[in-house]
Amino acid sequence: MSKPVKPEPAYYLASRCPSCGAAKSRPSATAYVYCDFCGSLADYDFRKACEQPRSMPGPVYEKLSAKLKPQCEKALLANDREKYLELQTELFDAYVEACPNAVPVRVGDAIFRLAFVAHSAGCCTVIAFDDEYKKISEAMTQATAALQWTQHEGATRVSHKSFKAMLDTVVAAQERTYSDELYSQYAPHPDGAGADLLKRIGYSGFVQGWLPYLHEATTKLLLETTGLKQEYLTVETNASALLNCGFCKNTVPVFAGAKQCVCEQCGHKLEVEQGIRCDGCGSHLAVDKNSRDFPCPQCRRKIERVGLQWPGVFSL
Ligand SMILES: [Zn+2]
Ligand SMILES: [Zn+2]
Ligand SMILES: [Zn+2]
Repeated sequence: MSKPVKPEPAYYLASRCPSCGAAKSRPSATAYVYCDFCGSLADYDFRKACEQPRSMPGPVYEKLSAKLKPQCEKALLANDREKYLELQTELFDAYVEACPNAVPVRVGDAIFRLAFVAHSAGCCTVIAFDDEYKKISEAMTQATAALQWTQHEGATRVSHKSFKAMLDTVVAAQERTYSDELYSQYAPHPDGAGADLLKRIGYSGFVQGWLPYLHEATTKLLLETTGLKQEYLTVETNASALLNCGFCKNTVPVFAGAKQCVCEQCGHKLEVEQGIRCDGCGSHLAVDKNSRDFPCPQCRRKIERVGLQWPGVFSL
């Protein structure tokens, strides 16, 4: 395999939610697989990630990154963590804007977005000041420089042995980043994702970048080492009901027994045990726990909460 294979649309990643144990039974709209029953981040779908073009941040982000680079280096030399974190926060906020495909769809929710940026910036800051990580990073630079290239059937390939040496340093870096010792020092992932899932997400971009340059045996090693050799199933089950998202025009499938799910278009986590019937257009809407009054996305009529109660509430 020299290129990621385009999956059939009817296939989905075989995964089980670590929070509630429910199995996913339909394709996810993005590489971030959210549970249809509790709305937790359940898995990361590498094949889905390969379907979308790799995110390149573009000139606005590149310009900011170049501008902040000397300040980051200065803060590192001065051992000024606070300043470094501040700069990384600015940079990650710009990254979320520039690469929406590379980050969870839930960044569409402003509260989630703040927490996600704090987590990512905190993570980068902690590893930048960690002596062990610095050593791994130096070894990675050396292993990358020592990569050996060959021509194979007219295509450029990297040698298995030299790639394996480099991969070992990448694995060491991911292990260090998400070790208990370091992970306890920065803001947790706002989806509560565990270290294993975060490592897989972290590997994704690296793997996508390298696949075109690898021999078959190297590809196999890479996918197995990074946990991105995943199992796919065909779609079997259907949702028991459909609700309209209360924040956008997306339709959200609801499965029997589901409590919460994530709208894959706008990223809001929705309560789906009950729906709200819009008295303007009659559409069945789902909103989150913290919603105040909101305009119906279908007809724009203002839907108002009376105390704790929504009008037109019905159970599914
Ligand atoms: Zn779940
Ligand atoms: Zn939505
Ligand atoms: Zn309406």
